Amino acid sequence: MFSEQKRQIIEYGILLDRYELVSLTCGNLAIRMPTGEILITPSGLAYDKMVEDDVIVCDIDGNIIEGERKPSSDTPAILYIFKNRPDINGVIHTHQPYATAISLIPGLTEFRVCFTGMANTCCGNVPIAPFSPAGSVEMGKDVIKYCTTARAVILSNHGVMTIGPSLKDALYAAVYLEETAKGYLAARACCPDGKTNEMTDEQIDQMVEVFKYYGQGTPVIPTDLVKK
Ligand code: 13P
Repeated sequence: MFSEQKRQIIEYGILLDRYELVSLTCGNLAIRMPTGEILITPSGLAYDKMVEDDVIVCDIDGNIIEGERKPSSDTPAILYIFKNRPDINGVIHTHQPYATAISLIPGLTEFRVCFTGMANTCCGNVPIAPFSPAGSVEMGKDVIKYCTTARAVILSNHGVMTIGPSLKDALYAAVYLEETAKGYLAARACCPDGKTNEMTDEQIDQMVEVFKYYGQGTPVIPTDLVKK
């Protein structure tokens, strides 16, 4: 059942590892099928050792339809997101260190876009939620509360949740959020007062719009959209 999507989950799990967004077995991934079934990674298995049969298929209430493994400990949070956001079909949880480190900066309630890739893929600034423990439904509640427009939320002292219409969108948000956090923290360390140069709101909005024309299957970017 859903062999192609199970393979995608494993492939993307390996990519999370390659982009250093997870270590060993942490993090998890989930897809909602058009027919409503949810595919979730098993708890505590390494992505590079995972096989299709390890991926669990369940319904929206967590009743297992297929699979022998114990599902991710974050299943309650994942199901909460799918239940409350019919537009979301891909969810990723990571422990990506640079984006998570942003939550250690006192007084920050959001990570403001400072690289174009983050604007594109996270759809704007990324909120920072208070701490919530692994396995809690609060991780999912924070996504619903904070991700009104953004495709990512930083969970203080814990990790990141990313969401998207597809699992690919959630993966892109996680990767570019981390890339931007690395750059930001490097620049911040060079600024004695901790103040870095910022992008304007207009530049951020412009880059969110431009990404709608990115890649294959979309029209060419309208020239008036990319005027300076
Ligand atoms: P699972 O392996 O159970 O999905 O847990 C990983 C994790 O990151 C918990 O927050």
